[in-house]
Amino acid sequence: MSFWDHLKPSTLPPAAAHLEVTPDGSVLRLTWDDGVRTSVSARTLRLQCPCAACVDEWTHQRTLDPAAVSAQVALADVQPAGNYALHIHFSDGHTTGIFNWKTLRELSERFPHQA
Ligand SMILES: [Zn+2]
Repeated sequence: MSFWDHLKPSTLPPAAAHLEVTPDGSVLRLTWDDGVRTSVSARTLRLQCPCAACVDEWTHQRTLDPAAVSAQVALADVQPAGNYALHIHFSDGHTTGIFNWKTLRELSERFPHQA
């Protein structure tokens, strides 16, 4: 249970109504169905990738070394995964990251991209 669950115990997590990737792939901009707009950098998403290659499935320890992630990492492709998540392909060849709306909202509020 996360901080945000605790803060808003009875509301459904917001979903993104609109998304946009900057032309250079460095930033994901999200407009949420509750009207909030957030931005998050590709590098933040890469560093916080929740996939099994980046986080140990059993211990939930992050196994990804931040020093191994290029400062220039970009979003190569962003595809919907059902209606609950985005499947993000990064320019460093990492393609297994699936970010659900809750994760995207949390990351973009915790690590907002300063445009
Ligand atoms: Zn990953």
